[in-house]
Amino acid sequence: MSTQQIPVVVIGAGPVGLAAAAHLVEQDLEPLVLEAGPSAGTAVREWSHVRLFSPWGEVTDPAAEKLLAPTGWAEPDAAAYPSGGDWAEQYLQPLAEALGDRVRFGATVTGVARAGRDRVVDTDREAQPYVVHVRYADGREERVTARAVVDASGTWAIPGPAGGSGLPALGEQAAADRITYRVP
Ligand SMILES: Cc1cc2nc3c(=O)[nH]c(=O)nc-3n(C[C@H](O)[C@H](O)[C@H](O)COP(=O)(O)OP(=O)(O)OC[C@H]3O[C@@H](n4cnc5c(N)ncnc54)[C@H](O)[C@@H]3O)c2cc1C
Repeated sequence: MSTQQIPVVVIGAGPVGLAAAAHLVEQDLEPLVLEAGPSAGTAVREWSHVRLFSPWGEVTDPAAEKLLAPTGWAEPDAAAYPSGGDWAEQYLQPLAEALGDRVRFGATVTGVARAGRDRVVDTDREAQPYVVHVRYADGREERVTARAVVDASGTWAIPGPAGGSGLPALGEQAAADRITYRVP
């Protein structure tokens, strides 16, 4: 396989990962989006009832719109405000469908390394392709060779602590069972 054919792995089919994939296609690079959840915008769908503070015109990507145009995508009113559910259903899911086989669902990335390099052997590390370890929802595992990796896995699954400076507030960990970090 030539370097040109090795995909750029994108971790996550959220707004950033799917936009990154659209830009890669625009640059004639082959993306492979690996999404842990069952559909596009898995994290966004967890707050599907909440309305965004940005209008449609600010939450769609130009390269993505180019991919969507030939599919008959109905471009939303740029001045209207979508809910998380609208964002996922009316933009992210159609975009994932336009990307076709380049998006795999139920595919959790569990590790990223440089091929043949580890703690002992690290010569020429930067020149090696990446190896991405994937665990599928049905239990299968696979190693995918990638020319580059875009981490668009977001922060939804790892919310920041309540304390300042990125550290837990004093007493936060002891009270963890009484704290909810996400949108109810
Ligand atoms: C209530 C709320 C309202 C918001 N309103 C706005 C707004 O109005 N305007 C605005 O600009 N932003 C808004 N945001 C922020 C915006 O939603 C985020 O900036 C955006 O979703 C980030 O996109 P992302 O693709 O980086 O990450 P995410 O949307 O978090 O997507 C990451 C994806 O990666 C997947 N993933 C995670 N780990 C792995 C793994 N190991 N392997 C494979 N897949 C993985 C997840 O399942 C998920 O689908 C809002 C956020 C919230 C919570």
